[in-house]
Amino acid sequence: MLGAAGAVPLAGQAVSGFLPTRSTTGTSEERRIGYGIVGLGRISMGQFMPGVRISQRSKVVALVSGHRDKAERVADQYGVSRQAIYGYDNYEAIAHNAEIDALYIALPNGLHAEYTIRGAKAGKHVLCEKPMANSVAECEQMIAACREAGRKLMIAYRCRLEPTNLRAIELIRQGFVGTVETIHSDDGFAMRSGEWRLTKKLGGGGPLMDVGIYSLQACRYLTGEEPAEVSGISSVMDHDGRFAEVEENLVWMMRFPSGVITTCRTTYGVPLGQCFRVNGTKGWLEAEPCFGYEGLHMKGKGEGAEFDDATNDPSPHQFAREADHFAGCILENREPVTPGEEGLRDMRLITAIYRSCQEGRPVKTA
Ligand code: NAD
Repeated sequence: MLGAAGAVPLAGQAVSGFLPTRSTTGTSEERRIGYGIVGLGRISMGQFMPGVRISQRSKVVALVSGHRDKAERVADQYGVSRQAIYGYDNYEAIAHNAEIDALYIALPNGLHAEYTIRGAKAGKHVLCEKPMANSVAECEQMIAACREAGRKLMIAYRCRLEPTNLRAIELIRQGFVGTVETIHSDDGFAMRSGEWRLTKKLGGGGPLMDVGIYSLQACRYLTGEEPAEVSGISSVMDHDGRFAEVEENLVWMMRFPSGVITTCRTTYGVPLGQCFRVNGTKGWLEAEPCFGYEGLHMKGKGEGAEFDDATNDPSPHQFAREADHFAGCILENREPVTPGEEGLRDMRLITAIYRSCQEGRPVKTA
């Protein structure tokens, strides 16, 4: 048996030429980064803010919401002052609140670009939820706005800081499965009607944008390569009005420069669940579930070893880790493990997969 998951260090590269935020005081050891939460929906209230509560380097200092009553209730829970509650109409006023170092953008996908750009112009660092935006052009504008403002931008790909996923990467790099030849990954669920995720304007696309992006990410970080070619097929089978604007099912393949071939499935039509399966010349790894908030489970068999482990990493630890990773990047002037450029890479690939679906042919991506 191999040891339990979780001993893999976090990634992070130094960048030069970055100045601390103007509101930075004290040493990095004693200082917590103040987050302004933009959008009080399921992910921010159910996961991110509870994660910040148990974090070591982060705190909630402001709220941005269209619902004042709700914001006041949440403010009381987190010790946020009434003066630090903003609406979308007076969002720019955050510029005058020096307690806010960074914004956590947890709005529908179609609003990520606007609130990231306005936030950077107000002098704040930005941790933006995935998918980064609805288009490649929007991603580029977000990166440019943060660069011009001298502020950091991170895309909230929490799996890139999660022990099971990090362990899979490490095992593959150590040669546990030999040479990787194929990867399969799923992520999908049955979507209820009436969600903004089913609209092109706010969702940007269907399950590929929302959850298929986890499989896309996994194929990239497990191989450590960028796809050279993608090929996709999409379908709508439930004609009940939910899929008038976005795909219901999407299956895609990717070919990587080393020869690795990956297959992925995503759906809003059925409770597909989530997994990745890596097959190599000397063994295999299987993780299921692999992208959830807790209870991740991975097993594998390689040369001379076999394991079957659950991760003891309860919710909302992934979010505490994410908030503290970005806080550390701000305090110590490091590049986030998933900067804006990482979200842009995924958006380029997602665009190519949609193009392949439309044109009925493989699309070169390198
Ligand atoms: P949600 O619908 O629960 O919350 C969205 C919030 O945006 C709500 O508070 C809503 O009031 C607000 N909002 C502001 N303007 C709006 C408008 N014009 N239309 C609709 N809502 C508006 O959504 P969520 O599930 O919290 O997702 C928010 C973002 O977080 C999405 O980008 C999603 O992809 C991402 N997300 C990430 C994870 C993760 O694990 N990293 C998980 C879930 C969601």
